[in-house]
Amino acid sequence: MEICTVGGFEEVGKNMTAVKVGNDVILLDAGLYLPAVVELQEQEIQEEYSEKLLRRIKAIPNDLVLDELGWSDKVRAIIIGHAHLDHVGAVPYIAHRYPNAEIIATPFTMAFLKTILRDEGIEIKNQMRVVKPNSTLALKGASGNINLEFIHTTHSTLQCIFVAWHSSEGTFLYTPDFKFDNYPVIGEPPNYKRLKELGKKGVKVLIADTLYSGTERRTASERIARNLLEDAFSFVRDKNAAMVVTTFSSHIARLKSIVEFGKRTNREIVFLGRSLNKYVNCASEVGLCPFYKEIKILRYRKQINSFLKRLNSERGKFLVVCTGHQAEPGSILDRMINGETPFQFHSADHVIFSSRNGCKNSNRHSCFRSRRKRRLA
Ligand SMILES: [Zn+2]
Repeated sequence: MEICTVGGFEEVGKNMTAVKVGNDVILLDAGLYLPAVVELQEQEIQEEYSEKLLRRIKAIPNDLVLDELGWSDKVRAIIIGHAHLDHVGAVPYIAHRYPNAEIIATPFTMAFLKTILRDEGIEIKNQMRVVKPNSTLALKGASGNINLEFIHTTHSTLQCIFVAWHSSEGTFLYTPDFKFDNYPVIGEPPNYKRLKELGKKGVKVLIADTLYSGTERRTASERIARNLLEDAFSFVRDKNAAMVVTTFSSHIARLKSIVEFGKRTNREIVFLGRSLNKYVNCASEVGLCPFYKEIKILRYRKQINSFLKRLNSERGKFLVVCTGHQAEPGSILDRMINGETPFQFHSADHVIFSSRNGCKNSNRHSCFRSRRKRRLA
């Protein structure tokens, strides 16, 4: 078994790991390095995103190293752990290099990948295979089957998986980003039972990666975040003040809580922006968006601006949900605050940040900040 740490081992983002057993290679994740993309957006370069451009700004994993190793034509699968851009965002630009590789992901992740392919106007010819969390798959390899297993875990978006390859040389286990949550708001707790079984049986290599893995403290369950949110909502008493909630667009469980508490305010709930639109539609497509009918989503700048003009005079009528909690330049909240929309904040207005405090170097709708990789072999 050989492992190539293609991307994401020295930076937060552009995750990609390649594993080779015999003449078969699988790729785990193909993500973007979001700070580079954000920088590009800030420079307002009008060039269309292409593989060449993204390589130049180092926004995608340097998978050309696989050519040097002679691994590229042996890649049988590209498996995506979950629907964050630092795990899936590079697929549209690199998949063509591996025509014999299937792209494998859970329904939500695959729906998200298809959405970004459509939005970017990119077609890929690879076979796309949707797998359920807690399932197995035998792929045809150069010499016998490649036995894969997808183990359900909890994280901050839907249908996240750990990937195991039960090879002739032992089990390789990849656990990209997770938060062990025993009380998730959507879905089941992690599949501890299976993880324990794998541990007992023995794992040859584990590549574990998650936010705050270097911090010795437990991250609270999503139920706690939900309670904090409910508490924040309870402080909004001015029925004529504007009310804005900002959070992660990929965090469907959090959005569900926001809508539930939002309904109690008797305000019309309006989601603003493309990124929210993408994730919410994907969740709805796979039947995991229970609040879909309760909300209105505005996606285009023109629509958003005319809505914000209305909000300016009917402040108490709406509850706005948008991105921008990290002060991402160009996000809706950023533009609202900077007077780039027809809306002006008043001192009585409420803005609820359902996220951690802002951080300069953080990524957009992704996994954030100082993350440490631990590689155990
Ligand atoms: Zn993530």
